[in-house]
Amino acid sequence: MHRNTDFKTISIGDLSITIYGGLGEIGGNIILLDYKKEKIVLDIGLSFSKYREYYEWPHRTHRGINEMIRLGVAPDIEGLYVSWENKSEFVSRETDILGVFVSHAHMDHIGLLSQVNRNIEVFLGKTCLIIEGVRREISRNTAYVSYEGINYNTFRTGDEVRIGPYTVKPIHVDHSVPGAYSFFIETPEGNVLYTGDFRLHGEILDEKSWTRDMLEKAREGDIEVMISEGTRFHDSSLESEEDVYTTFSRIFSGYDGDILMTFSYLDTDRFESLLKALDDSEREAVVADRHFLFIWKLSREDEVLRRKISLDPELIKIYIGETKVTGWRKKYYEEWINEGYQLITYFDELGPGKYVYNDFDTYLSNLMYTSFSQGAIAIFSNSEPFNEEGMISQEKIYNWLAALNIPSYRVHCSGHIHPLDLKYVVNEIQPRRLCVIHSERPEALSKFLGYDPGSCEKIR
Ligand SMILES: [Zn+2]
Repeated sequence: MHRNTDFKTISIGDLSITIYGGLGEIGGNIILLDYKKEKIVLDIGLSFSKYREYYEWPHRTHRGINEMIRLGVAPDIEGLYVSWENKSEFVSRETDILGVFVSHAHMDHIGLLSQVNRNIEVFLGKTCLIIEGVRREISRNTAYVSYEGINYNTFRTGDEVRIGPYTVKPIHVDHSVPGAYSFFIETPEGNVLYTGDFRLHGEILDEKSWTRDMLEKAREGDIEVMISEGTRFHDSSLESEEDVYTTFSRIFSGYDGDILMTFSYLDTDRFESLLKALDDSEREAVVADRHFLFIWKLSREDEVLRRKISLDPELIKIYIGETKVTGWRKKYYEEWINEGYQLITYFDELGPGKYVYNDFDTYLSNLMYTSFSQGAIAIFSNSEPFNEEGMISQEKIYNWLAALNIPSYRVHCSGHIHPLDLKYVVNEIQPRRLCVIHSERPEALSKFLGYDPGSCEKIR
């Protein structure tokens, strides 16, 4: 049951870097740096592939980290987690782990946060904390999950966190979620660069991708070890967010019928593309209440997104369906009505042909009871073919769409760097060693990039 082969250690003098999750799989990143027993952890991700081998919501959910370690779903790292006394009580013990640094808000990087030992400081970006806050607000009371007492510390790009023998410098990168960071880490044995998830091609408004800041910083510093994501290997495409927007715009204006659409509720770049394309056409968008809550919060509380995303009640309607209005719904529905938003319970309230029904995968079965589905098309615009948030299976969505006679298209650009761009980045940085993680093809990609996948050293 224990998968002891599922980690890899790189040693440089007294520093050891152990990669636990994300090794030969996409997601579940956890990296431990240990210098003479002073330790920090980079990301605290949940591995969906391992999780799904044992659990399926809502029939079987986990009973805390101890069980997940036993099953090999989570790696056994001394001192990293709480231990559960019962379903609502946990204890934290002494630990030599000084800090956990979270790169971004995707669950495969932050999904085990509720299990973290409260004696460890948690460092994360301000945007990531806003997203985490909304998640906590809307999550049900779940057994063996708690966020009580977590020691949150926030950072911004350009900050420096001195912790034990390490200086951690977060540098923002471009990814399919706002507030994504790489970490440039100074250690007594040299500099380590952890890229997190990143890409070079996602931005519409800025000429210069944020990722270039990481590149500049990494070029200056001698990089002893670069730990890079390597999600893309096969079937990469060169589409950018600009291309996605252009295609949206073409479809919105050129097609008369209804349009169903889906993409990640955290992909604010994609939401911007949607808004811009609505502006070009006569259409309005219907957005599911949960998705809208994230966008609405981010567009108010995040200083960068506040400048970029302007929400207009004339352009957006909020779909609430027949769900009971309690808890967070009660609170926010009132605010939204006051701001002039129309809340939609039944789609029949809206006329045909004028709308883009976003997040349709969350209210699929309700589509059976509408008239607009005749002649509609669906657009899948998730950044990845796999799901970074682990929701409903694609197969079921296809079945529903077929039952409704709705054909589908895929219009997207990836949240992850593709092999040629990664080769460019690695050539610019010239790290002494390169370790590819968050990848299903780490060996092949390492060799493509000119590094030995075993020793991580340059192939001469
Ligand atoms: Zn990610």
